[in-house]
Amino acid sequence: MAKSDNLTRKIDKRLPGELVAFIQHAGRLADSKGERLYLVGGVVRDLLLDKTNLDIDLVVEGDAIALARELSDDEAGKITIHKRFNTAKINWHGWSIDLASARKESYARPGALPTVKPGSLSDDLCRRDFTINAMAIGLNPGGYGRLIDPYGGQKDLGGRMIHFLHQKSFIDDSTRIWRGLRYEQRLDFQLEPETLRLLKRDIPMLDTISGDRIRYEIECILNEEFPEKVLRRADELGVLAKLEPALKGNGWLAKKFQPAREASSPSRPPAGLYLALLTYNLNSEQRDKLISYLRLPGALTKTLQDTAGIKDKILQLADSKIKPSAVYHLLEGYSTQSLTANLIASDLPIARQHLRLYLDKLRTIKPILTGNDLMKMGVPQGPRIKEILNRLFDARLDGRIKTRQDEEGLVKPG
Ligand code: ATP
Repeated sequence: MAKSDNLTRKIDKRLPGELVAFIQHAGRLADSKGERLYLVGGVVRDLLLDKTNLDIDLVVEGDAIALARELSDDEAGKITIHKRFNTAKINWHGWSIDLASARKESYARPGALPTVKPGSLSDDLCRRDFTINAMAIGLNPGGYGRLIDPYGGQKDLGGRMIHFLHQKSFIDDSTRIWRGLRYEQRLDFQLEPETLRLLKRDIPMLDTISGDRIRYEIECILNEEFPEKVLRRADELGVLAKLEPALKGNGWLAKKFQPAREASSPSRPPAGLYLALLTYNLNSEQRDKLISYLRLPGALTKTLQDTAGIKDKILQLADSKIKPSAVYHLLEGYSTQSLTANLIASDLPIARQHLRLYLDKLRTIKPILTGNDLMKMGVPQGPRIKEILNRLFDARLDGRIKTRQDEEGLVKPG
C-alpha cells in the first residue's frame, strides 16, 4: 500500500489548491458530524496514474445530501439534489463535485438497474466495475490521504490490467463490457485473461440492457480521445456486432476518425460526426433499426439521416460537369455535420471537391437584389418575383454575375 503522505503529495500535485482546500474542509465537516468521507472512483485511479482528473466524486458513510447542504452554505456553492439516489452535485467556483451516500447494491435480474440501500464504503466499493475504479482515499483529518484498496487496484494499475471484481460482474451489468473496452483502450491496458474470458462469454448478456444505457456508453466512447481504438477492439471481440452486425470498427473507420478530428479542431468532433462515420456504410434498414434501438435524440437522428441522404446523391455529385448551382440544389438544407461526414467518408475526388465548394463558398452566397427591389424595377407582384430571384441566385452561384449592376442587367420586368 502507498504511504499516506505519498497520496497527500499526489493530491496536492494533481488537484488545484482551492479544490484541495474544499475537500479538506469537507473532510473536517464530515468528521465533526461523526461521518467518514472519501474520494472515490476515477479520480483516485488517475491520481495514482499521476494524471489530472477534475471529476471529483466523494462518498460519505452518512447523509450525503445533508453534508452537501452544509458544504454549499459554508462555501457558497450551488447545489443540485437527487433525493431518490441520495446524491448531490455541488457547483462551486466552476468546479463540479459529486457527493453520494455510501451504498449497497443488488441486482434483481441481470441488466436491471440495481436496488440500492445505504451501506459502508466497503459495500460501495464492491459494487464497482473494475479494481482500478474500486479504490478510495480517506479525507477525514485522522486518515487524510490514506488509500483504501480492497481489491488490489493499485497492483492492477502497476500491471496495466483491467480486472473485474467478481465472476458475475458482466452478468449483473453488462454495460461493464463496453466500459472495460473503453478503459483498456484509453489507458493502453489489457483485459486480465479471466476478465477477458468472462467478458467474451457474457457478450450475449448485452441483450438485457436497454438501448438508453447502451447509448450512454457509446456516447462515453465517442468522447474518448481515440474512440476508433475502442470500436476496433469491440469489433474484434464481437461486441460491436451485438449493436448492429453490419457495423465495422476496422482500418477504414480509423482512417476517417483522424480527419474528423482535424475538421473539428481545436475541440473534439461532435458525437454526431463520429456516429455518421461509424454508420456510413449501413443500409437504411440497419440505420433505422439502430436509431430506434439507441433512441437517438432528434438532432443526432437528423445527422445520420442527412448523411445518408447526401450519400444517396454522391454519384450525381461525382459528375465533373455539373454546375455549382446544381451542387447547391443537391446539398441545400443538409446539416454541416452530415456534409462534413460525406466529405470525409467519400472516396470520390470530384464529389469531395463539390462538397468542399458547397461548404466553403456556395452556402454563403446570397443574391443582392430583393423582391422589393424587383417590384421597384417594375416586376409585378406574384410568382414571377420568385422565378427571377431564383434565376439571379443560380447565375450568381455559377459565377455568371458578380455585382448589383450584373443582377439588374438580368432582370427583365416585362
Ligand atoms: P471516467 O474517467 O471515464 O469519467 P470514471 O471512473 O469517473 O471514469 P464514471 O462513469 O464517472 O467513471 O463512474 C464513476 C465510478 O462509478 C467509476 O469509477 C466506477 O467505479 C463506478 N461505476 C460507473 N458505472 C459503473 C457500472 N456500470 N458498474 C459498476 N461501477 C460503475
